[in-house]
Amino acid sequence: MNFKDYIRVIPDFPQPGIRFKDITTLLQNGSVYKEAIEQMKQLIQDKEIDVIAGPEARGFVIGAPLATALGVGFIPIRKSGKLPGETIEADYALEYGKDKLAMHKDAIKPGQKVLIADDLLATGGTIQTSVDLIKQLGGEIVGAAFLIELTYLDGRSKFDGIDVVSLVQY
Ligand code: IMP
Repeated sequence: MNFKDYIRVIPDFPQPGIRFKDITTLLQNGSVYKEAIEQMKQLIQDKEIDVIAGPEARGFVIGAPLATALGVGFIPIRKSGKLPGETIEADYALEYGKDKLAMHKDAIKPGQKVLIADDLLATGGTIQTSVDLIKQLGGEIVGAAFLIELTYLDGRSKFDGIDVVSLVQY
């Protein structure tokens, strides 16, 4: 299946010069969405995973179905101010902006094997911040899985020693 046929590219969103990869057109097709999650599951099948962590919001759309497919837990990484319990926070820079990410302090038990999942790897800033948060909580990162990788931004070079896999590359 060519997943690119189902990903819409929108020029100049959210600002001039960005060619935004819109996955809503893939998600709205049940069989394509299911196949994408199935194939992502195959990309990580050699890994021992206790939990999957995904950043808001599209990381939930990929990470949560992947977690249920594997029968492991899902941990949300959220923007600052959204999680109700005690949190740790870290700054991050996006391909087109800046923000703060947060996790519950008790979300991960020390030594747990964590896979990070998101829709798209761009500069890697979001995932680098997620890595920092997970490490602060004592989690062991066993890899990062993406639906889409923008290879020309070389985000994966930020993750020395972390296995990065992606289903679709631009
Ligand atoms: P990074 O932190 O630069 O790797 O950016 C990745 C994050 O920004 C992901 O959480 C994506 O959801 C979002 N993002 C950046 N560029 C795009 C895009 O072209 N399409 C969809 N999401 C994007």
